Amino acid sequence: MAIFARLNRPRGTHNRLDRGAPVGRFEPMPIDPTEPYDEGNIFARILRGEIPCKKVYEDDHALAFHDINPLSPTHVLVIPKGAYVSWDDFSERGTNEEIAGFVRAVGKVARECGLVADGYRLLANVGLDSGQEVPHLHVHIFGGRPLGPMLAG
Ligand code: AMP
Repeated sequence: MAIFARLNRPRGTHNRLDRGAPVGRFEPMPIDPTEPYDEGNIFARILRGEIPCKKVYEDDHALAFHDINPLSPTHVLVIPKGAYVSWDDFSERGTNEEIAGFVRAVGKVARECGLVADGYRLLANVGLDSGQEVPHLHVHIFGGRPLGPMLAG
């Protein structure tokens, strides 16, 4: 996951990216979840079919695909079809239908991946402290092995 890495990013109203940024290192920057939705983000481009993904599931409300850099034997991302930056944004602006559809899709994907019997973990990063890298809400589904402690460090 991302660490705080670049200075001088002119975004947001509570930008704290200067905290602990190592000089000269360029790693993925966590996004500012208070910014408006960026139509050019990579998951928006996947939704528009501009970039490919390894699709697992799709319905009216959600698209699920394999993470490009898997951290467990099963590592799937589920994203809503609507333009929402984060869980915070979605829970505030999403319609009841979108939210219900998305939550049901996450559960369905986990079931269809065969993860229920052995268990799995859901993760949704929101903003700076979490290291969220892509500014379109996504829920990670991890499974396929014991997943260890809830948080590293
Ligand atoms: P987060 O740190 O929660 O924002 O997670 C972003 C995730 O998106 C990371 O696990 C990346 O590996 C994954 N990712 C980035 N680009 C792609 C892509 N084109 N296809 C699939 N997964 C991606």
